Amino acid sequence: MPRCYDIAIVGGGFVGNTLACALATVPGQIALIEGKPISPANGKSPNRDERSIALALASQKMFDALGVWEQLGLHSIAIKRIHISDQGRFGALRLDSRNYESECFGYMVPAEKLILSLQKHLQGFENIQRVQPYKVSDIESHKDRVVLHGNGESIQAKLLVAADGSQSYIRNKLGISVQENNYHQTAIVGNISIDSDHQFTAYERFTRYGPLTLLPHAGNNCGFIWVLPNHVAAELLARPDEDFLLTMQRAFGYRLGYFSRVGKRFSFPLSLLVSQQRVHQRVVLIGNAAQTLHPIGAQSLNLALRDVVELSETLHSTPGVSDEIHEKLHIYATARQSDIRRTIRLTNLFNFLFTTNDPLLSRTRGMGLALLGAVPIMESYILKQSSGAPSTAARFLPGNSLQSP
Ligand SMILES: Cc1cc2nc3c(=O)[nH]c(=O)nc-3n(C[C@H](O)[C@H](O)[C@H](O)COP(=O)(O)OP(=O)(O)OC[C@H]3O[C@@H](n4cnc5c(N)ncnc54)[C@H](O)[C@@H]3O)c2cc1C
Repeated sequence: MPRCYDIAIVGGGFVGNTLACALATVPGQIALIEGKPISPANGKSPNRDERSIALALASQKMFDALGVWEQLGLHSIAIKRIHISDQGRFGALRLDSRNYESECFGYMVPAEKLILSLQKHLQGFENIQRVQPYKVSDIESHKDRVVLHGNGESIQAKLLVAADGSQSYIRNKLGISVQENNYHQTAIVGNISIDSDHQFTAYERFTRYGPLTLLPHAGNNCGFIWVLPNHVAAELLARPDEDFLLTMQRAFGYRLGYFSRVGKRFSFPLSLLVSQQRVHQRVVLIGNAAQTLHPIGAQSLNLALRDVVELSETLHSTPGVSDEIHEKLHIYATARQSDIRRTIRLTNLFNFLFTTNDPLLSRTRGMGLALLGAVPIMESYILKQSSGAPSTAARFLPGNSLQSP
C-alpha cells in the first residue's frame, strides 16, 4: 500500500523547503521528499554549499512573514550600496539605498543557514513529513493522482510539486521538453578575505575575462562569482590559490585593498533552461525545474520565490486539492508567465552587455551604465527587477492570507 498525502513536494532545496513552509497552514498532509541523505549536524558534509545567496527585499519580507527571518536574519548582511565598474575604463556607477528611501537593496545569506532555518521552521508543523533520503526513480501520473516510486516503497499524492532542480527527473520522465541555451560559460564561486571594510557594498566589475561580482560577507570577507568562458574558467580553476587570487586582484583593482586569502573554489557550468510546460495533469514544476537562469544579477531564486508565493496562494484557495485544481494550476502558470519572461530577458541582457568584447558594444555598455546613472526611471526599473516586485511579497505579511503558527 502506498503512503498517501494531499501534496508531495519532490526536492528539498531552497524552493521545496520554502514552499513547504508557505503551505504549512493548508489543510491536509504534505510530504517533502529529498533524495540526498540528511547532512551531519557537525556541518562537515562533503556536499556543503558554501555560497551566499543574495535575497531581494521582497524575498526577505516573505521569509519574515513566514517566520523564518527571525533565525535567518541573524546570519544576514545587508547590501546598502552597489558599485558597477568596467576594467580599463574610467568612471563607475554608484547606487546607494538611501537614495531609494530604503535601508538596503537586499541581503546576503549563507546558503547553508537558509536551508537549516527553513528545515528548523518546518519541524513545528505536524502535517508536514520530511521523507529523506528518498530518491524518486519512477512516477505514474494519473488524472486524479500521482504515484511515486523509489527506495522500494510508493508514495501517492493528489498533487505533486516538482522542485527537483535543473536536471529534474520528474520533468524528463513526463516527457516535458526544455528550451536550452548553453552560455558556454562557467561561474567560479568562492570566498575571499580582504584587508579593508566592504561597507556593505556589492561590486559588479566587468573584467577582460568576464563579469566579477564581489558580495559583502561577515567581517572582512566577501563572496565572489566570476563568470568566465569555459576554457578560461578551467585554466583559472587549475591555478594555485595565490596565482588565482593575484589574477582576481589585478582584474578587480584595489578599491577593497588587498585580497589576502581565498577559500575552496566551486564551479557551475551555465545554461538557461526553460521548461516548455509547467503543469502536466496533477504535476506542477517550480524553481530550477521550471526555469534555470544565468546567475548574473542574482535573479533566479528570487524569481522562484515569487513562484512559491503565487502557487501557495493557489493551493490555499483550493483546500484539500479538490477537482478544480487542474484549472487553478493552469491559471497559476499563466499568471507567472510575464514575470518569468521579463526576468529571463533581463538576465540575458545583463550577460550580453557584461561579457561582450565587441569594441563598439563595450562602448555602448559604458554609455548604458552612464545612462543608467543619469536616467532615474531606467535605474529604478532595473532596481525594481533586481529587488523583486514588492507587491507579491506583501501578500505574505502578517494579517494577510498566509501566517506562520
Ligand atoms: C553560482 C550561482 C550563484 C547563485 N546565486 C544566486 C543568488 O545570489 N540569488 C538568487 O536568487 N539565486 C542565485 N542562484 C540561483 C539559485 O541557486 C537557484 O535558484 C536555486 O538553487 C534553485 O533551487 P531549487 O530548490 O529549485 O533547486 P535545487 O537547489 O537544485 O534543489 C533541488 C533538490 O531536489 C533534489 N532532487 C533532485 N532529484 C531528485 C529525485 N529524483 N528525488 C528526490 N530528490 C531529488 C536534489 O537533491 C536537491 O536537493 C545562483 C546560482 C548559481 C549557479
